[in-house]
Amino acid sequence: MSRPARLVLLGSPVAHSLSPTFQNAALASAGLPLRYEAIDVAPSALGAVLGELAREGAAGNVTVPHKEAAFEHCSTRTEVADRVGAVNTFWTEDGALHGDNTDVAGFQRAVRALVGGPMPSRIAMIGAGGAAAAVCAAAEQGSASEVRIAARTMARAEALAARFPRVVGVYPAVDAALEDAALVVNATPLGLRADDAFPVAIERLPADVPVLDLVYGPDETQWVVAARAAGHPAADGLRMLVEQGALSFERWFGFAPDREAMARAIASCTGRRL
Ligand code: NAP
Repeated sequence: MSRPARLVLLGSPVAHSLSPTFQNAALASAGLPLRYEAIDVAPSALGAVLGELAREGAAGNVTVPHKEAAFEHCSTRTEVADRVGAVNTFWTEDGALHGDNTDVAGFQRAVRALVGGPMPSRIAMIGAGGAAAAVCAAAEQGSASEVRIAARTMARAEALAARFPRVVGVYPAVDAALEDAALVVNATPLGLRADDAFPVAIERLPADVPVLDLVYGPDETQWVVAARAAGHPAADGLRMLVEQGALSFERWFGFAPDREAMARAIASCTGRRL
């Protein structure tokens, strides 16, 4: 694959994304003469924008709400992107778009950093959207035997269970999903806003269970802060974001980014150390 002519992040909204911060730090550290640009794209414009980017020989990332649509626009996809049904990383070869999904391995790395080992055997997950599908694919690849999904729209949870029958079960009652869980994952956007309810009340979490919130921002979510205060190992989605971005970089350039440079950029932007 030849070096990308341009590097972009497509989403809506994207203005507050942290990805340009750490991707540009990695590009500068590698001496690559490229800027990673965040572009706000309306859903109706995605096809035309991707077509133009393919003509330019671009590569990049795709975020909310375009991951499933981008999947449809790619000529070839990796096996893991096919399994999730979504693309978060793309590149151009011979004028055609190719897609991958690095959220899956990004999630696996974030879990490893939190629990200090492989995927736990029983995961309780709130939410059944695109991020939840990446968690299911990660569990299927790893040693996790079961993902117990509690979601407000049962039909969406059931559709996910039908796609991942070996690992996913649907639990209308959140307490049943939480029973004996070795990891609790928030795969809803709850926590993005300061007045959001917690995905699961802290007192309902099994004692000491690790908690991974996929939501991220400049500050940790209140749920993560409260869970840690109650004795749970807890992390928000920042590490998963950086891990998926590092894997995307590797896909585009064929070598790993400078992780220290990425961490420094995040620390200077948010005050947080990974
Ligand atoms: P999505 O496809 O829209 O799915 C969201 C899920 O959350 C759906 O099951 C939805 O239920 C549920 N939900 C939404 N609002 C809710 C509420 N108020 N109460 C209960 N459930 C609610 O979104 P997504 O792409 O999966 O993203 C979910 C979150 O993960 C986002 O905050 C995103 O930023 C984050 N994420 C983080 C990373 C990372 O690298 N850290 C990667 C991917 C995603 P309905 O079907 O009923 O709407």
